[in-house]
Amino acid sequence: MRVLIVGKGKSGVGAYNLLVSLGHIAFMVDDEVFNKKGNLLNGLSFLVLSPGVSLNSPWVKAVQERKIKVISELELGSMFLKSQYYAITGTNGKTTITRLLGEMMKTRKKTWVGGNIGVSLSSFALRVKSQDAVIIEVSSFMLESIDKFKPKIAAITNITPDHLNRHKTMQNYINLKFKIFKNLTRYDYAVLNADDDIIMAKSKSLKQNKYYFSTKKEVRGCFIKNGNIYFKDDFKLICISRANEILLIGEHNKSNVLCALLMFILSGGNPKSVLSVIKNFKLDPHRIERVGEFCGVSFIDDSKATNIASTLASVKCFASPIILLVGGSDKQSDFSLLFNNLPKNVKHIIMFGEVRNKLASALNLTKFNSFSLTKTLKEAIGDAIKLMVSKDVVLLSPACASFDEFSSYAERGRFFEKVVKEKLVEKQTPKTFQTIKT
Ligand code: ADP
Repeated sequence: MRVLIVGKGKSGVGAYNLLVSLGHIAFMVDDEVFNKKGNLLNGLSFLVLSPGVSLNSPWVKAVQERKIKVISELELGSMFLKSQYYAITGTNGKTTITRLLGEMMKTRKKTWVGGNIGVSLSSFALRVKSQDAVIIEVSSFMLESIDKFKPKIAAITNITPDHLNRHKTMQNYINLKFKIFKNLTRYDYAVLNADDDIIMAKSKSLKQNKYYFSTKKEVRGCFIKNGNIYFKDDFKLICISRANEILLIGEHNKSNVLCALLMFILSGGNPKSVLSVIKNFKLDPHRIERVGEFCGVSFIDDSKATNIASTLASVKCFASPIILLVGGSDKQSDFSLLFNNLPKNVKHIIMFGEVRNKLASALNLTKFNSFSLTKTLKEAIGDAIKLMVSKDVVLLSPACASFDEFSSYAERGRFFEKVVKEKLVEKQTPKTFQTIKT
């Protein structure tokens, strides 16, 4: 077969290696470099789309005109999986749940973790044995072009506005997320967040075997009640442990643990056997991570908070006064949803980056009046350090993408840590050295 792969990132390379190792002819191209006149489009069997490339790419249009099939790299990888696989999508918490479920599953069998988490499915799909487990983090971008992707258990963590620059409407975004259940039968499991109104409304019509997780109410699935974690199905109610065994910061991470635990139970695992996994689990970097301390002030890197809901989840984790750093590049977000829902302990907001004026316009519609604007993140950190007093939390939780100044959220987080440390050293060093006259 001749296959064209659009996008030369990790997914594109994974797809290329998989196809070539099977003896197919594959070509990788950059999305931006479109050459219709070339002969690349002749005799193609299908096109593989990397998640970073939109369906509006000229390559996609060109092959669709020729009635050639377009599939996502996720679809390609899953076609070769011999084992059952479990998939997680949603606006926030995907990586945390994918990794946590991966750690739980490793206690039972050989487990592969991949997808949107940075290891493309295609890069390992051929090595997976039928008795292994595969846990896949799935983004909305990947779901745009799936066809037969059929996880045994699929979960939606939560749905709040995000990526509307690509998906245009909230309804499109919701529909895409629900595509994860497209091929599930009634013998497969749909795992749903019962605390999420959007998910609950949309899931009414789902025909699959539905299980839920909730930190607030009793459900068929995993829930917290009177400080205990339970699992309930049509036949039994099991008390798994005390909820305070979950040491991860924040209410949102309780929800994440319940989701992973529920998926683990539905896969046939014993929840009590993974309590130590939950206790010892550490969040990935740039997710509410303490990166500095100065005279009682904590500096928190939550650079992975690239939408409003994740920023709201993190401000709720602190009782101390917060100096909040928000900004970056816009994803057509409605920032009134952020500013109208901030807790009272946010004492000052610094808006930085390309989107700062849009943020300021939204903030101006509220009564909140302690704010500043800076062009760059570096200046924002400088301002925060000037303003901070003992017991404050300086929180980078940007609610925006990083691409105006950085190549990724991780680069932004590392930069935050570096600048914070440099500025704190400067602050500790006496500024005025008297010149001794001789
Ligand atoms: P994702 O892979 O979906 O981006 P992560 O687990 O990497 O999710 O977390 C991304 C950001 O979202 C972090 O800032 C984290 O604190 C926040 N977050 C994680 N889980 C949730 C949740 N269930 N609800 C809201 N925010 C969350």
